Amino acid sequence: MNSPQNVLGQSLIGNWINGRLGAMSTRTAPVFNPATGAIAREVALASAAEVGSAVDAAAAAFPAWSATPAVKRARVLFAFKDWMERNMDALAMAITSEHGKTFDDAKGEVQRGLEVVEFACGIPHLMKGEYTEQVGAGIDAWSMRQPVGVCVGITPFNFPVMVPCWMFPVAIACGNTFVLKPSERDPSPSLMIAEGLKACGLPDGVFNVVQGDKEAVDALLAHPKVAAVSFVGSTPIAKYIQETATTHGKRVQALGGAKNHLVVMPDADLDQAVDALIGAAYGSAGERCMAISVAVAVGGVADALVQKIAEKARAIRVAPGETKGAEMGPLVTAAHLEKVRGYVDAGVAEGATLVVDGRGLKVQGHENGFYIGPCLFDHVQPSMKIYREEIFGPVLSVVRVKNFEDALALIHGHSFANGVSLFTRDGDSAREFASRIQVGMVGINVPIPVPMAFHSFGGWKDSLFGDHHIHGPEGVRFYTRYKAITQRWPTGIRSGAEFVMPTMK
Ligand code: NAD
Repeated sequence: MNSPQNVLGQSLIGNWINGRLGAMSTRTAPVFNPATGAIAREVALASAAEVGSAVDAAAAAFPAWSATPAVKRARVLFAFKDWMERNMDALAMAITSEHGKTFDDAKGEVQRGLEVVEFACGIPHLMKGEYTEQVGAGIDAWSMRQPVGVCVGITPFNFPVMVPCWMFPVAIACGNTFVLKPSERDPSPSLMIAEGLKACGLPDGVFNVVQGDKEAVDALLAHPKVAAVSFVGSTPIAKYIQETATTHGKRVQALGGAKNHLVVMPDADLDQAVDALIGAAYGSAGERCMAISVAVAVGGVADALVQKIAEKARAIRVAPGETKGAEMGPLVTAAHLEKVRGYVDAGVAEGATLVVDGRGLKVQGHENGFYIGPCLFDHVQPSMKIYREEIFGPVLSVVRVKNFEDALALIHGHSFANGVSLFTRDGDSAREFASRIQVGMVGINVPIPVPMAFHSFGGWKDSLFGDHHIHGPEGVRFYTRYKAITQRWPTGIRSGAEFVMPTMK
């Protein structure tokens, strides 16, 4: 079997079906090294037939895996948690080399993914049902949760390890089998995960990977043997996934894009708020669904806030992700770089004040890499494209509002509602904010309020389509079906047919 390092050494990234690497497809797409701009390798884009093989393998593995005692399934995950710890550097390097984020940030991503594996190790406890003795004379009742079947994960480029880990550990721990369709922009970590799971004793067919684009996704959404689809990506695709997969009778959770606000109240610790904004706006070059892209300056705080952010933004060290001390790496592709530049151009054209302009940045020795420096806009209006749309780059917009109520109204006027944060020293404002804000994940003096693995992650409005947030207890609910059983052993009781609703008198 290949070691994780060998996956990166391959020139063609293929699928992982029934415990084996391979690819039949003749269609391919380039995978770049964003730090240099060079093509590093190609990814084979799976055909509908290959997708069919992966789903068939998962369906064939389901009866035995779902019948495996939960405690034994958990043991595979325990071993995999250990494997992830031992291979953290290799996984992080694979992320950095295809995504571009800094190596330390990539290790943080692996750690957050690993925490979902830790959570899933507790599955024997999490799948316990409830039992009531004597709901009627000689009758007992209980409930239990059972796996749904073949589950699919379709994931974005920005967290090629963590987002798949939001899905498959919980899904397979619950007794399901899984087909992952990772982003075609950074596909290698998915195969490393597949190899790791096999090395830890996961039976062939329980976890499969198909590489690909829309063709593979459409084949998965329509496949009659697929029971449930988890998606994380942009809002238009999330909507499409939810509509298409539900039409085909699947259970769906589809997490979409974001435009996260951080509100700075006049009583906030300004330096703390600035540090929070710098990390949350420019970390991972803004390619995070929980990145802060709007700073809401309340009352008279704006001038000092903008000046302090600008100073720190100009000092951010942009370099290839593997460089020691790098704070921000390149964007994922040249196409994405052009898109982000286009948004900055649009902001200038619409009349926002570009306080820090990262468009001209060149990284010495890496002139063809996909770099843009931190950008900061002031006097952004809610009508502007840079405010309304998700940029997904290192671009922070400052919107000035008069008071707390205007800040709430501004946030409620946006179509996205993934994460939000309030910086204040006042407990009343904090409590009021947490209670009234119409957003899925809320931070008080915390810039990126990503819930830990034993809670669940998800936004509201155009940031999530479906009923369940992802991982944690919501993940267990999504990947299981509820069954209620009522039982009587009628020894000696023969009451004849009953034609009225059974009730307790
Ligand atoms: P994307 O929507 O372009 O791609 C996501 C997945 O969908 C990929 O696997 C891709 O191959 C597939 N896909 C793309 N176009 C498709 C089409 N037309 N039909 C079917 N499938 C298609 O997203 P991305 O650019 O990879 O990731 C960035 C986006 O993901 C941002 O919008 C970000 O906010 C979002 N995101 C959201 C969360 C969250 O938790 N809400 C987390 C991470 C990323």
